Amino acid sequence: MKKILVTGGAGFIGNHLCRRLVKEGNYVICLDNFFTGLKRHIEDLLDSPNFKLVEHDIVEPISLDCEQIYNLACPASPPHYQFDSIKTMKTSVIGILNMLELAKKNGATILQASTSEVYGNPLEHPQNEKYWGNVNPIGVRSCYDEGKRAAETLMMDYHRQYGTDIRIVRIFNTYGPNMDPKDGRVVSNCIIQALNGDDITVYGDGSQTRSFCYVDDLVEGLILMMNNHHGFIGPVNMGNPSERTVLNLAEMVLSLTGSASRIVFKPLPSDDPVKRKPDISLAKKELGWEPNVDINTGLKKTIEYFMQFKNKS
Ligand code: NAD
Ligand code: UDP
Repeated sequence: MKKILVTGGAGFIGNHLCRRLVKEGNYVICLDNFFTGLKRHIEDLLDSPNFKLVEHDIVEPISLDCEQIYNLACPASPPHYQFDSIKTMKTSVIGILNMLELAKKNGATILQASTSEVYGNPLEHPQNEKYWGNVNPIGVRSCYDEGKRAAETLMMDYHRQYGTDIRIVRIFNTYGPNMDPKDGRVVSNCIIQALNGDDITVYGDGSQTRSFCYVDDLVEGLILMMNNHHGFIGPVNMGNPSERTVLNLAEMVLSLTGSASRIVFKPLPSDDPVKRKPDISLAKKELGWEPNVDINTGLKKTIEYFMQFKNKS
């Protein structure tokens, strides 16, 4: 049994990760400030003797015992991370500094949930880990993109300067049950709009691409990465390389829900990346990891979960 800290544990990916780690017999401390996280996502875990909830903001230092830290705390949806962009930057930079200090004190391994956003609007396709990216440092997405890039820098500097045992995972668009219906990301928006018979909002002409990974596949990858003992620290891409346009995703959701909603086109937000597809050969080689859940299966499970919110939001 390991003592594991999951920051952002009440968020979308975090609640799946906490559940899986508890199920495997670990003691999990879920730390969250509930900015985008929801109590109902971890309610089933609250009675477990192997689960503890700590309400805390990672921008403030904290002292606790742990052997592993998954640092997931950070809003991930563009409307949420742009709501208070200065706070997003603080969470990314001061937050990871606090978590790295905690890892150093405990001799713990720390995994940073980084992002495909470190590649910005990529000029190389698909993106592999050697690509340095094409990021606007002063745009509306910069608080997130540059915050995550600075966090990777701090991770590497703690590793080089203090020998901290680190893991960096660059997560590509992930979806699944227990996303907040009000989260604002494309998968949750399309599904809830389709179920409610509302217009499906496609930004721009919908020709921009994304590659969507089902959450169980991602969680499997995060755990494999954390527990590899051959000195593989990353950065490593994790995502599903099956690429599609946003318009195609909206059409899939329409067809799977049998909805009569119309697709409507809305302005493309600024700096919205044109293409995104992970090269996952490094994860395959180093961890034997690749996703197993295809988009049809994953969307069906997600739609099933969202049925409970039909006509309620
Ligand atoms: P989410 O917004 O659902 O979850 C983030 C969690 O962090 C929430 O519970 C929120 O309340 C908490 N949080 C935010 N700021 C905090 C702070 N200062 N202190 C403590 N808790 C704080 O997002 P998610 O989709 O679960 O993403 C989790 C992590 O994975 C994030 O770091 C995100 O950047 C990264 N990521 C996610 C995706 C994706 O597609 N889901 C893609 C790339 C990277
Ligand atoms: N998007 C869209 N309609 C929505 C929400 C998002 O067309 O209701 C687009 C968005 O402009 C982007 C893509 O879908 O091109 C993925 O957006 P999301 O916010 O899920 O994640 P991102 O990859 O931009 O961080």
